[in-house]
This record gives sequence, structure tokens and C-alpha cells, in this order.
Amino acid sequence: MNLLIIGAPGAGKGTMSERIMDDYHLIHVSTGDMLRAAVKNETAVGLKAQEYMNRGELVPDEIIHDIIVERFSQDDMEAGFLFDGYPRTYAQAVDLDEILKQLGKKLDCVINLNIEDQELIERITGRRLCPACGEIYNIYTKPSKVEGVCDRCGESLIQRKDDNLESLQVRLSEYHKNTQPVIEYYQELGIVKDVDASKDKEDVYSDIRDILEGLC
Ligand code: AMP
Repeated sequence: MNLLIIGAPGAGKGTMSERIMDDYHLIHVSTGDMLRAAVKNETAVGLKAQEYMNRGELVPDEIIHDIIVERFSQDDMEAGFLFDGYPRTYAQAVDLDEILKQLGKKLDCVINLNIEDQELIERITGRRLCPACGEIYNIYTKPSKVEGVCDRCGESLIQRKDDNLESLQVRLSEYHKNTQPVIEYYQELGIVKDVDASKDKEDVYSDIRDILEGLC
């Protein structure tokens, strides 16, 4: 099963992806995570991407094309994959179709997480992450027991550089401008399933499971 999860920043793509991966054993492909790793490791891609990311802007399509082609060269993708945060532009969606066609693969379903922008502000500006185990917290809605320290592994929590109001506003406007056409592209193919992402996490996941069970 090959899936794409799509939604504005803070809609819950990361959290829902983790649950889907665990239950359906798919390979999680997050271009955001791949780019952050590239920035951290100061690779050529990372150095090119860094400025765009800090400003909350999209990284150019050519860079994204290269990291996706490189990712498909690894054998584990045969097991089925879950794209998270990619494709983000119409050009990336068209490009992905071409890449998949050449590999004899296709996307089975696009899970579209719907939520109002206003709700995302608290989620994003309050978000804190554990750099060691990946646990996600929120200082307003899901604080760690000890402030700034991961409950699971004791590591100091961090805030993503782009999780501030200024970057969020740019990211939201990029999302509406560039990613809405991606959703429309897949709607025309008839593979989009809409999910109300403003609900409680468990309810959102239960809706996603219902969709995926229908595909299995
Ligand atoms: P994310 O973790 O998915 O919110 O991505 C963080 C940042 O990485 C975005 O704000 C963009 O700057 C960049 N990025 C991630 N995925 C893509 C993509 N598919 N196309 C362009 N830029 C991306």
C-alpha cells in the first residue's frame, strides 16, 4: 500500500504517520525530516535548503526531486511507503507520477487532514520535540512532566526553528497557495480521502484506520 498524508503544518501529519507506520509497516518518507537531517549534517542539499526552511518557504522542486529519487534507490521502499509533506507543489505531484510510473508503482490513497488555520497557531507555537526519541509535546496541551525534558528518555526538548508565528504564517500561506492544487490534482484522480483533523487525536486516527481498512 502506497500512501500520501497531506495537511497544513500542525495538522498532525507526523503524529498520524507514526501510528500508520506502526500498524501497517510502511516506510515513512518525510521530506521535512530528510531536509532537517541534511541541514544538521551540513550536506550540499542541506546547505542549499537551510535558508528556505528557516524562512518557512518551500525548498525548490529540483532539490526535492533529487532527494526523492535518491530515496527510491534504497530497497526498503518495496514494502510500501507513506509520503508525508511531499508532494507539496503541483510540479512535484506531476514529477512524482513520472517517477512512480518508471518504477511500476502508484499511489493508492491521499489522506487529507483538514483543519482551520486558527487552530494551528497554538499547536505549532507550543510544539516541542525530543531530538533523541522523536516524542512530540505541546507546552499548552501536552506538556512534559518536567519542563523542557523528555518524559520518555530524559533528553532536553527542542523547538523547531520554523515553529514561530512569523514562519508559521509564511508556511500557511505557502500551503494554501502551493499545496491546494496538489489536493485538487489527486481529487481528479479520485484517490483523496478527507479527514477532520480538528478532532481528538484518537478519533482522527480511528477515521484514518477506517479508510485504510477499506483499502487493505
Ligand atoms: P515539514 O517538516 O514537512 O513541515 O517541512 C519543513 C520545511 O521543509 C518546509 O517548511 C519547507 O521549507 C521544507 N520542505 C519539506 N518538504 C518539502 C517539499 N516537499 N517541498 C518543498 N519544501 C519542503
